[in-house]
Amino acid sequence: MDLELGQIVRTKKKHPCGNDLWEIVRVGADIKARCLGCGHVVMMGRPKFEKLLRKIKSPKDLEKIEKYRQKK
Ligand SMILES: [Zn+2]
Repeated sequence: MDLELGQIVRTKKKHPCGNDLWEIVRVGADIKARCLGCGHVVMMGRPKFEKLLRKIKSPKDLEKIEKYRQKK
């Protein structure tokens, strides 16, 4: 999977704040992602991160992403 800066991804596991959408803020050997819910930033190795990813399909998620983008 190609990961791009600024891309929004969804993870299998929810963050403790209840959110499962993340914005990619750094791409490299390590991936840095910011939680859309609370702004917490995590960094982990790319293979590990890619295993956590899920496709964004639901209209609800797309709505959340739209709201997040407007806030910025
Ligand atoms: Zn969070």
